Amino acid sequence: MRSDRTGDTDGPGGLPLQPECPFCGGRRTELVNPFGSQLSVATYWCLACRSPFEMMKWTATAPDAARPPVGEGGAP
Ligand SMILES: [Zn+2]
Repeated sequence: MRSDRTGDTDGPGGLPLQPECPFCGGRRTELVNPFGSQLSVATYWCLACRSPFEMMKWTATAPDAARPPVGEGGAP
């Protein structure tokens, strides 16, 4: 089980620590709140243009391996 240990580039919950800013395209961003206005978004702050932006967690680079396979049907 390796649910707690993540890569150095991943923040809590597998969120990217420095996603690309949607405004200026810069990478000088930081995670402000893993839970933004909604549970499905995280709030980031761009140091370059000093603008807050939100990022959808589920559309971020989330490898399928991080989520358990959906056992539809429940067949063993
Ligand atoms: Zn920016």
